[in-house]
Amino acid sequence: MKEQKCGQCKKWNKDAKRCIFCNAPLTAEESNKDYRKKIEKEFAEKPLTKFDKLTLKMKSSPNIFVRGTYYFLFSLWSIYMFFVSIFVFLAAATPG
Ligand SMILES: [Zn+2]
Repeated sequence: MKEQKCGQCKKWNKDAKRCIFCNAPLTAEESNKDYRKKIEKEFAEKPLTKFDKLTLKMKSSPNIFVRGTYYFLFSLWSIYMFFVSIFVFLAAATPG
């Protein structure tokens, strides 16, 4: 049995992943889930920027070089995000 104090409402919870009083996340795993949901929601709500339109245009371009440039930049971005997510994971997994 593990008791945890909720960071939001300061009440004690027993063996819970989420606060039974205010539904705040009590574990790193749950707060990561919340954070991801928040980011996804913000992404979904954002209107297309000029950059988004440009990348969409590049992606569906009939020109193979334009498409190639897009996939090259996209893979660079994916690698960058991969390292960022590892860093975020390490930061979240570190106690304290
Ligand atoms: Zn709470």
